[in-house]
Amino acid sequence: MEIKTQNKIWLSAPHMGGAEIDYVNQAFSSNWIAPVGPNINEFEKDISNYLAEGKYVAALCSGTASIHLGLKLLNVTQGDVVLCQSMTFAASANPIKYLNARPVFIDSETSTWNMCPLLLEKAIKEHIAINKKPKAILAVHLYGMPYKIREIHELANKYQIPVLEDSAEALGSTFEGRKCGVFGNLSIFSFNGNKIITTSGGGALVCNSQSIKEEAVFFATQAKDNFPHYQHTELGFNYRMSNVIAGIGRGQMEVLEQRVESRRQNFEYYKLMLSDVPNISFLEEPQGSFSNRWLTTILTDSFTTREKIRIALDAENIESRPLWKPMHSQPLYVKEKSYINGVSDELFDKGLCLPSGSNLNKEDIELVVSIIKTVIL
Ligand SMILES: *Cc1c(COP(=O)(O)O)cnc(C)c1O
Repeated sequence: MEIKTQNKIWLSAPHMGGAEIDYVNQAFSSNWIAPVGPNINEFEKDISNYLAEGKYVAALCSGTASIHLGLKLLNVTQGDVVLCQSMTFAASANPIKYLNARPVFIDSETSTWNMCPLLLEKAIKEHIAINKKPKAILAVHLYGMPYKIREIHELANKYQIPVLEDSAEALGSTFEGRKCGVFGNLSIFSFNGNKIITTSGGGALVCNSQSIKEEAVFFATQAKDNFPHYQHTELGFNYRMSNVIAGIGRGQMEVLEQRVESRRQNFEYYKLMLSDVPNISFLEEPQGSFSNRWLTTILTDSFTTREKIRIALDAENIESRPLWKPMHSQPLYVKEKSYINGVSDELFDKGLCLPSGSNLNKEDIELVVSIIKTVIL
């Protein structure tokens, strides 16, 4: 096979549908070049309609900002404990620190790679026993795979601890027919450039009532009291989404289902093409789970194999990336308390994310597969 090196194959590149530019042009022609305007309202409605459970959505400037605001709305404050999935992107955990609260990291289980319910309950019990009841649970649907929804939310209900659902990677995923993003007391999405749909950068906070959404928007727009002059009683943020980029979001929502379908096809094609390769495995969907397959991930037999593959791909101008390095092993967070079973450290050692964009073609995937085969076979 001819190896092409001209065009880089990215892990997860943006993929416009076509209508985005029309909505952006509407923002220009109406001069709503501001963090208010019709694109924002319509984008929020699009997301709410998609989630199909009467949710109230606040479009914000990033997923990280959405987590920050979400934790604030859950009244997380200085010294509070937040139980956070360890295996995730740092953006899940950093907002806990922004609030001077304390992350306590919970390791993963092997069927979804997400928060382990056994360790979660252990952590809850131990913290209640020392009179430090956790203020929130931050659970993540990693790579689009729903976390153990039943188990995690049963514990949350049993101990009456709210859940912030980090659905940054899981727009389009479902559990038992319900969309990821509907399960938390609050949930967030990210529309960063590498996510399943993108506004170049952006996020959303999913709320259970109009009044909570209004509170979110109030804090996202500098917490201005109702006066003709600018008067502030509370500490606000500048976290609202721009009406210009909300136009990109409207166009992207029109093609979301196609994007999910393409990503899932990528996964199936990798799995088929690599089926005869020993020591490579894929994460299957547990009963009831439907993953958007934001990224196709593989597990190899060792750190060495994983690195050989990654380096061989890189030499051919193909981007791949080790799985998320767990927070409890990050220099930034090693000193924080954690509940560890070894699962996420092993995933990090052996796992690799393969190019997974919805705009990849079969030849791209065949090229990636051929390089993996030259390393392993
Ligand atoms: C991307 C991501 C975020 C952060 O979203 P941004 O829009 O990039 O701020 C948070 N959590 C997870 C799991 C993510 O993948």
